[in-house]
Amino acid sequence: MSGDHDHDHHPEPESYAAVRARALESLLVEKGLVTTDAIDEIVRTYEHDIGPMNGAKVVARAWVDSGYKRRLLENGTEAIAELGFGGAEGAEIVVLESTPQVHNVIVCTLCSCYPWPVLGLPPTWYKDAAYRSRVVREPRAVLREFGLEVDESKEIRVWDSTASLRYMVLPERPAGTGDLPAEKLAELVTRDSMIGVGLARSRTEIA
Ligand code: FE
Repeated sequence: MSGDHDHDHHPEPESYAAVRARALESLLVEKGLVTTDAIDEIVRTYEHDIGPMNGAKVVARAWVDSGYKRRLLENGTEAIAELGFGGAEGAEIVVLESTPQVHNVIVCTLCSCYPWPVLGLPPTWYKDAAYRSRVVREPRAVLREFGLEVDESKEIRVWDSTASLRYMVLPERPAGTGDLPAEKLAELVTRDSMIGVGLARSRTEIA
């Protein structure tokens, strides 16, 4: 565990934005301008496609550029800004490197703090009380439920995000990808691998 979770949630801009978004959604649906299905689809796109693509570019760049990787691990926010990403819910981002010895996984035990500029919107399960409490107590079992078996010899570090300090995982580069350019490598980087509940895909999975 790392970091204090002492941020004040009253008042917080996130919940104001959430309330406003819900009010707008109700109004638009009521006026027949959009359907809730269409909105769900937009949210799904942000969760799975648009959001994490930024993080994937960051990871791929770090895999091919050792200077960038050093800067990324030293000052995540600044290195991420080099690629043009930043802003809301990302004032301070710390990047954690997973290695053959250490596997990193992120959580927000108190609510749902998440690095929006690189990962987009958090998935629903990230906000669930079960994930938030269990991943701290029994990370290996929780990761197994995600389909990720972490060898007993490997240390698992769980990092508790806060509103003022958010984490992102730099996953291990898959073996046998030495010849791939950054644009192809980015396709291997999944949202879950940057949360730490999964690994980057092997190249055969995108072929
Ligand atoms: Fe939080």
